[in-house]
Amino acid sequence: MKPENALYIVATPIGNLADMTPRAIEVLQNVDVIAAEDTRHSAKLMQHCNVQRPLIAYHDHTFVEQSERIIARIKSGESLALISDAGTPLISDPGYRLVSLARQAGVKVIPIPGACALITALCAAGLPSDRFMFEGFTPAKSVSRRKCFEALASEARTLVFYESPHRIEGALADMVECFGTERPAVMARELTKTFETFLSGSLGEIYQTVCEDANQQRGEIILLIEGYKKPEQSGDELSAEAEKTMRVLMGELPLKQAAALTAQITGEKKNKLYKWGLEIQ
Ligand code: SAM
Repeated sequence: MKPENALYIVATPIGNLADMTPRAIEVLQNVDVIAAEDTRHSAKLMQHCNVQRPLIAYHDHTFVEQSERIIARIKSGESLALISDAGTPLISDPGYRLVSLARQAGVKVIPIPGACALITALCAAGLPSDRFMFEGFTPAKSVSRRKCFEALASEARTLVFYESPHRIEGALADMVECFGTERPAVMARELTKTFETFLSGSLGEIYQTVCEDANQQRGEIILLIEGYKKPEQSGDELSAEAEKTMRVLMGELPLKQAAALTAQITGEKKNKLYKWGLEIQ
């Protein structure tokens, strides 16, 4: 049956083709055209699902021209589905600009939900899931990555990052540095596939496992980090600002100097800062 005239945002599996929903298949089999991130990649899934509709390419970097053409087709009465290589379009994948322009143009946008890697990881990680922050891919360069992590060091919500296999070791090293060795975390890898793995423990333990086992540096990876928890009040704890300042300065200076400068900046006692620095070193 011909679907309603609209732009359909259709989720596809993140590994296991059996996760394709019947509704997604029905929509893809019946729309006039399917816009895909990579038409050759998607052709395999279309074959598996017995979808025989024409595929066109959509990328966010050439979005204005392509979006205008897509929106004009929908306005002329066609129905169009957007898919990405895997999972939910727009989630670290192209589509945002098209959906935004479609809505501005008064085109109906209908989501067809299904697999999404971050939700798949979060629901099985065992970390607090009532509130979380999805940060997408971590920055590629270590300097920007550390800046990003330092800004999140006192964030109380669970943090979720996408990571690529060739950067996993460097990203974990920077996480240990910025969030501390003891912070609880989970690394979810190859979800819904043959080698699905969850590593859970402290950031330090996960980093060590990944360094020692090259297999853990393969495939598709998500890192989840438990949010910052204020330590029990004993009088020895530092303010979040003092901790953050100490972590940054300890990366650049000897401990004594880092403690002296942090004392000047935050008003904390130098000895207390020095003692804290020794404990986390
Ligand atoms: N749109 C997708 C979604 O809904 O999750 C995400 C696409 S993004 C380009 C690809 C990244 O998502 C991977 O580098 C990895 O971090 C994560 N990812 C995708 N599939 C995964 C899987 N099966 N297991 C673990 N992580 C996955």
